Amino acid sequence: MQRIVYGIGVGVALVAPPTPQAAVSSEYRQLEAHVHGQAEIGFAVDGDRLVSEFRTPMYSLVGFEYAPQTDTQWQDYNGAVRILGDAVSLFEFGETECSVEKASINEPEFQEANHPHVHGDEHHHDEHADHHDSEARHLDFSVQYEFACENLNQLESIEVGFFEKFKGIEKIEAVFVGESTHVAELTRSRAIFDVVRK
Ligand SMILES: [Zn+2]
Repeated sequence: MQRIVYGIGVGVALVAPPTPQAAVSSEYRQLEAHVHGQAEIGFAVDGDRLVSEFRTPMYSLVGFEYAPQTDTQWQDYNGAVRILGDAVSLFEFGETECSVEKASINEPEFQEANHPHVHGDEHHHDEHADHHDSEARHLDFSVQYEFACENLNQLESIEVGFFEKFKGIEKIEAVFVGESTHVAELTRSRAIFDVVRK
């Protein structure tokens, strides 16, 4: 299954995208999968800039996937937003210096269908649920980051801090679009993306 996902991602990247951001977005349309505990991250080189997009189910970040109801849930939610916006503590670049230019967070859009529920509870019905695709219950966070780097040609690795900050994330599918495109699966024990050049 993963091999197929990778294959599609690489194939898409071979068609030169108009912009790095489009490249990352394009990867996402292919890689996009809502799996709790998983996330995707894309990186694309644009001259001296590195743009990145991170996406994950809300559940991976806070352990629930509906509009926060309690003070504790609001604390967790706002805490997650704060962490996602703190790019300095989420990325460590090997062999070059990069400064954060932007961290733009797209929060989930809560709808009536996103009332509290137990995931996978097929017995749950109400008057609204009948009018909504059950997929509407799932909510994602995505964040766009932009970095200005001293010399991206020297970039050797990118270490991500998402595992450390969010206990619910177990795996991150990573895509890097530079002179060539490559992918890697980051895990809690291996949170470093090695930039390969050839
Ligand atoms: Zn979900």
